[in-house]
Amino acid sequence: MSPFPSQLSGSTYHIITFGCQMNKSDSERVDGMLGALGGEAVATQDEADIIVFMTCCVREAADVRLYGQVASLKNSRALVVVGGCIGQRDGAELAAKMPHVGVVFGTHNLASLPALIMEALEAKDKKPVVEVISNKDATAFNRSPAGTDTPVTREHFWHAWLPIMTGCNNFCSYCVVPYVRGRERSMPFEEVLQESKRLVGDGVREITLLGQNVNAYGHDLYGGSRFAELLLAVGECGVERLRFVTSHPKDLTEDTIKAFAELPSLMPALHLPAQSGSNRILEAMNRRYTAEHYLHLVEQVRCASAAAGKEPVAFSTDIIVGYPGETEEDFEQTMALVKAVGFAQAFTFIYSMRSGTPAAELAAELADETPREMIQERFDRLVELVQESAWTFNQQFLGTEVLTLFEGASKRDSSVLAGRGPQNQTVHAPLPKGKSSADFVGELLPVRISEAKTWYLSGTL
Ligand code: SAH
Ligand code: SF4
Repeated sequence: MSPFPSQLSGSTYHIITFGCQMNKSDSERVDGMLGALGGEAVATQDEADIIVFMTCCVREAADVRLYGQVASLKNSRALVVVGGCIGQRDGAELAAKMPHVGVVFGTHNLASLPALIMEALEAKDKKPVVEVISNKDATAFNRSPAGTDTPVTREHFWHAWLPIMTGCNNFCSYCVVPYVRGRERSMPFEEVLQESKRLVGDGVREITLLGQNVNAYGHDLYGGSRFAELLLAVGECGVERLRFVTSHPKDLTEDTIKAFAELPSLMPALHLPAQSGSNRILEAMNRRYTAEHYLHLVEQVRCASAAAGKEPVAFSTDIIVGYPGETEEDFEQTMALVKAVGFAQAFTFIYSMRSGTPAAELAAELADETPREMIQERFDRLVELVQESAWTFNQQFLGTEVLTLFEGASKRDSSVLAGRGPQNQTVHAPLPKGKSSADFVGELLPVRISEAKTWYLSGTL
């Protein structure tokens, strides 16, 4: 039964999500809460009475885009709600700049959203309702444990994001996350387990454990990391596919590496952000590992998994190009690291200056040192290398059977089914004659691969 009265019945809402998986997961909770209030989700903002933006400020582009989109709603009849990382960072300032915004809430205030929306709808003065708890005052886990009193409407019935920790203590010099998500806070071990079992009972086939730095899980509660232990416990609760994001290389322990060999449900895919291949830049970034250590970790995961006779592990990463003071030599070291690992995928970013971070001061000092065109040219070279690397990785699946968890029809072509393989690669297969794509949603079926492209595999069921 819904814990909230149906105060929004007859109202429609639309959620727009920027940024990372944590925001996607938060958006599923916003969806769940507004649905529980009796609201109806609609596909476009034009049809909505309430428009919720879950925002990101990791890079300037998303930040600027959000302000532009919200500004363009100046004459909208809808209640405009801004949450997520920009809500946390700008709070009342955002409301003062854009008085047509009805609600601003921070990253620690997700569970208050229904009350804030009701307050805004009932307010006679139409002043924005703002609730942002400071990082310092956010003591408990971000929200009430999933499923107990924060309803969730999952995007896919077979997949669940399960936030096990939030916040970050790492303070990489370029990054705003610790300032907008606060310090690391973990969900109690037993609650994660209970929630995992509940999800499996609900028909979830794949769980992704989520956190800004999942390897640090438990430090705040138990005085040390219990991530590997948690991984094994969740992996044994009946879930068919288990994944986790994001890992910090400095905190990836041997126990976690062993899990790739020992835990059948743990999928052979590891997202391990490298950021750079230059030790000088890694040090400036405050990453606290070297390129050699990174390569050693990759090797250890590969060996552990191969020794156990498991499928090849797909490594993916994040890389920043153009960190202040990055030289051609530094960049070449990044290219060398990318070549050495043979990534299945890499998210590449041009350094974006974020005020308040240590790197921003350095960036201001070194502003003209590396011309923009040179950074762009390096970025393009990296993207090309990443594409080659992804293509090469995918070739090994030609002629093999890839067990695919189907999401439904491909967005581009309704006669093609799309899903994900164990390595998280996109897999396409023609929809069998006489069948509807809906029949395959959430089904786990083998696909015989006959074509291996850079970003997808395709074959027949
Ligand atoms: N907690 C995760 C994700 C952080 S944000 C992690 O540690 O990996 C996701 C990615 O955005 C980062 O890995 C980094 O590559 C990129 N990023 C963060 N701040 C950035 C900045 N100021 N400019 C460019 N890219 C940035
Ligand atoms: Fe940002 Fe570094 Fe924390 Fe990741 S580990 S969220 S990059 S500070």
